[in-house]
Amino acid sequence: MTKVYKAHILYTKEQSRFEVLENGYVAVDANGCVSGVATDIAALGDTKDAEVIDFGDRLLIPAMNDVHVHAPQYRNQGIAMDLELLPWLQSYTFPEEMKFADQTYAERMYRLFVHDLWRFGTMRASVFATIHTESTRRLMQLFEEAGMGALVGKVAMNRNCPEGLSESVDNMIAGYKTLMMDEGKRKMENDALPQLVRPIITPRFIPSCTPEMLCACGEIAKKYQLPVQSHLSENRDEIAMVAELEPDSSGYGDAYYRYGLFGQTPTVMAHCVWTEGEELELMKRQGVMVAHCPTSNLNIASGLAPIRTFLDAGIQVGLGSDISGGHDLNIFRMMVYAIQVSKMCYQQNHDRKFLSLSEAFWIATKSAGRFFGRVGSFEPGYEFDALVIDDSGLNHDHYSLLHRLERYIYLGDDRQIVHRFCRGKEITEPKIHIK
Ligand SMILES: [Zn+2]
Repeated sequence: MTKVYKAHILYTKEQSRFEVLENGYVAVDANGCVSGVATDIAALGDTKDAEVIDFGDRLLIPAMNDVHVHAPQYRNQGIAMDLELLPWLQSYTFPEEMKFADQTYAERMYRLFVHDLWRFGTMRASVFATIHTESTRRLMQLFEEAGMGALVGKVAMNRNCPEGLSESVDNMIAGYKTLMMDEGKRKMENDALPQLVRPIITPRFIPSCTPEMLCACGEIAKKYQLPVQSHLSENRDEIAMVAELEPDSSGYGDAYYRYGLFGQTPTVMAHCVWTEGEELELMKRQGVMVAHCPTSNLNIASGLAPIRTFLDAGIQVGLGSDISGGHDLNIFRMMVYAIQVSKMCYQQNHDRKFLSLSEAFWIATKSAGRFFGRVGSFEPGYEFDALVIDDSGLNHDHYSLLHRLERYIYLGDDRQIVHRFCRGKEITEPKIHIK
């Protein structure tokens, strides 16, 4: 049955401006997709049998998408900010990820992680797990049980890491086969839309994978038509290491490309702080999305990613919390950091105009949403992923709807999110504790 939601509706069809519908209506069909959006209910067509839900003076906006986050690093959130990438991985990240061989530990941490994505209104995420197949499966089940969308990667790695985080190429392939068998079972249950939870091929990054491992990752991505996620040009020492490990490649991006991991299937690459020239052209040509992770780039001193340059080049961009290089899971706050970082870039080069609020919002919603399907907008045909914001506690004077949204983005948090929807379904609070 069609449902019609009434509220003050704000979303970004285009990056340059908000669509604002004061006391507007959005109609959602039985598949969970938007069938119309208008200020006049009569403009939605035949809605006489529809259930109308009135959210009154609240704001209705698209839900958040996080295109780069590490679930097993959730315990390290907000600590260990004193090193750059390569020593940071060895000292803090790898020891924590090794703990996910223990299913009980994984269950506890992953429940907390999924719960907190929910809390901050992130209904879709592209997530790194660890090398451990069983705990990765469990993370996928937890997303499914919650009703939230996720691409979940069993991490592939077999060099420059502790023994407990290294596995053979054969084991990696077997692990993905297990995840694909689960995927097959889910498909039989519902085939109207793509599955909300799917595996994603996840070589950690080139320094962690031998050529054989990278080759196998590219082959599985092609064979099962799975998307790919990894890290690219984050840190200068890392880039120098890749140049040494892959002397035949013309650059970091080209190295992934040669293994079939750079846009041969939908691909998102985190950071791209130092991407320019040939690598930038290759990203554009291959339609590779940038996961911009501003807090992570500040915390582990990686640099300022040139987002304006990517937007001007027509490269797709989304926002990533990158827990635990990043300390903040809240994608609204990530918009603020992205704007602030773009202002630092602007100070270095006035040709790179800083991001506007609508651009940051569009990056977090419609632009990032492309990685998950038709997600992140209220245009007809888009999956209805939405948040209802009760900003009455922040709304102490007569603000315009746009200023109310801006204040929520800068000042609000999970306490103002009163309803969350993913693909048309209201998503209730996932349970943190096991009975
Ligand atoms: Zn990362």
